Amino acid sequence: AKERGRRCYKFYSDSLNARALERLQLEESLRTALVREEFELYYQPQVDLKSEQITSVEALIRWNHPTLGMVSPGEFIPIAEETGLIIEIGEWVMKTACAQAKSWIDEGFPPCRMSINLSSVQFKRSALTETIKDVIEETGLPPEYLELELTESAVMTDVEQNIQRLKQLKNMGIKIAIDDFGTGYSSLSYLKKFPIDTLKIDRSFVTDLAENKEDEAIVKAIMALADTMNLGVIAEGVESQSQLAILRQYECELIQGYLFSRPLNKDDIGMLLKTGL
Ligand code: C2E
Ligand code: CA
Ligand code: CA
Ligand code: CA
Repeated sequence: AKERGRRCYKFYSDSLNARALERLQLEESLRTALVREEFELYYQPQVDLKSEQITSVEALIRWNHPTLGMVSPGEFIPIAEETGLIIEIGEWVMKTACAQAKSWIDEGFPPCRMSINLSSVQFKRSALTETIKDVIEETGLPPEYLELELTESAVMTDVEQNIQRLKQLKNMGIKIAIDDFGTGYSSLSYLKKFPIDTLKIDRSFVTDLAENKEDEAIVKAIMALADTMNLGVIAEGVESQSQLAILRQYECELIQGYLFSRPLNKDDIGMLLKTGL
């Protein structure tokens, strides 16, 4: 019995070590990923339902790991946040995305806003507005072209301070979207105090939209809320015509999802922006 106990223990500790090691390796290679230029931005169109034009794109980071291949942001962003590496990575994302948007303007493409995901770790830093000002100055992107996607939980803590920060960004001409809306603990009474532009309906409410009456009720409620508060709405994760039909029925303004396009690398999105959908 003692023998088996030891074996069990060993097995447990081995798998624990394996996981810890994997995480440590990821963390180590994350530290050098920037200088080795292993990151790449993909861009997914956000489509205006009425005009069927691409009005904006969301920048989504990709990590091409030398041995593991593509590592999804869902895996490495949390590690980047815990280690603080997200600050540098986030700055790289901002610079690269803004420079890209500027080059589309210079090439004479139809106007297209750039939506960038901002981690709560980035949003909490007092240097944020300075960093953004620098990026705008460096790249020459007019600030009206820039939109920041912030999650509910990022803005709903330290409410008073965040309202000030959002006001600064707004005064610069930058747009603000609340990402994954409906999944956090948004207090509706706070929501009206925040200077935001857009609610982004989370994919979890869209996935079963055509089959699930509760999801439909939630989408309907968010649409009504946005309408009353004069906010724009975008639905993410739209994959099917039946989902689209319901979103159209509730007059959802913008649509993002595989139905129109997957996230594309810079050459492919460039072609799509030039020729249209
Ligand atoms: P998110 O901001 O909610 O982004 C939407 C995710 O849904 C993206 O996954 C996108 O590729 C995926 N998606 C888009 N359309 C569809 C669809 O029709 N069906 C399905 N099943 N999925 C769809 P991705 O690129 O893997 O990113 C995952 C998360 O990682 C993002 O969720 C965001 O929270 C984070 N992330 C990505 N890029 C960045 C970044 O540059 N900075 C920060 N801080 N976070 C990022
Ligand atoms: Ca997002
Ligand atoms: Ca989401
Ligand atoms: Ca998100």
